[in-house]
Amino acid sequence: MKDLKLAGLNIERSTIEINGITIGGKEIILMGGPCAVESSLQMSQSAETVKKAGGKVLRGGVFKPRTSPYSFQGMGLEGLNYLVQAAKEQELLCVTEVIDAQSLELVVDKVDILQIGARNMQNFELLKLAGKSNKPIILKRGLSATVEEWLLAAEYILAAGNPEVILCERGIRTFEPSTRNTLDLSAVGVAKELSHLPVIVDPSHAAGRRDLISSLSKAAIAAGADGLLIETHPNPDEAISDGPQSLTSDQFIQLAAELGVVAGSVQRVFTFGGKGDTLEALRTQIDGVDQSIIKLLADRMQIVRKIEPQNSSCPLK
Ligand code: PEP
Ligand code: MN
Repeated sequence: MKDLKLAGLNIERSTIEINGITIGGKEIILMGGPCAVESSLQMSQSAETVKKAGGKVLRGGVFKPRTSPYSFQGMGLEGLNYLVQAAKEQELLCVTEVIDAQSLELVVDKVDILQIGARNMQNFELLKLAGKSNKPIILKRGLSATVEEWLLAAEYILAAGNPEVILCERGIRTFEPSTRNTLDLSAVGVAKELSHLPVIVDPSHAAGRRDLISSLSKAAIAAGADGLLIETHPNPDEAISDGPQSLTSDQFIQLAAELGVVAGSVQRVFTFGGKGDTLEALRTQIDGVDQSIIKLLADRMQIVRKIEPQNSSCPLK
């Protein structure tokens, strides 16, 4: 693709370093939080959940680009303070979506990462403005965007001077109505083949339903994703937006506890519980390794059983 002058894969993959956290390295980066910031309590509970799970980034929308003009549009600056405060309390990074020049200016100095949503992927003026900021940008794939269009949108940001773009696959619109969108996991591989930029996956907006989030998250890691962006809410039934796709706190933590084994199977790392040296985190890691050993031994026994009849001195007639 000739116009991917900056986003194209040249020599090495890029990593993005933010306050000691590396996106695009060996470690899988988990990001979580509610769709929209609703209250201080909701954000501190969400931050606690993300921290317990070993997540590194707290999400929460305060400027919401909603399909209907009558839906909740976000808490604005008040919500931003709740997000920033909650992240700080748990020593997490934070990310929020920007939708225009004004919202970008309001949040840019307060958050660690800016998000440009699917609906704005081809808002070229916003991309250029984001390119002039000094914050990493999570660039979601547009609802009907090809991988090429998505990468060219990233190119706008890079060409404007900001090299720190994280691509995010969040499902595309297809004819299939049983999920909100269709998670295009092959796009992870295609984007990584064409570009050096890190790629993360948001299974929440793809599935639109919480029962699929765990399996899609694991599949995303197996497909090569560098991180996951997952919606979780302390009380999804009461969520103002995207409740049906939001995991409960327990579900989010449970999912995180299962990610290490999947990451290990594709030579990546995810440490449940954050710091790798707490007793709880080490026990969980040992459990994960034990499960893998048991599974491998079972596989070995099955193969041995197939060999035995062939080796027998009295073959069955
Ligand atoms: C979101 O992350 O809450 C969001 C609106 O995502 P998307 O732009 O992928 O729809
Ligand atoms: Mn959402």
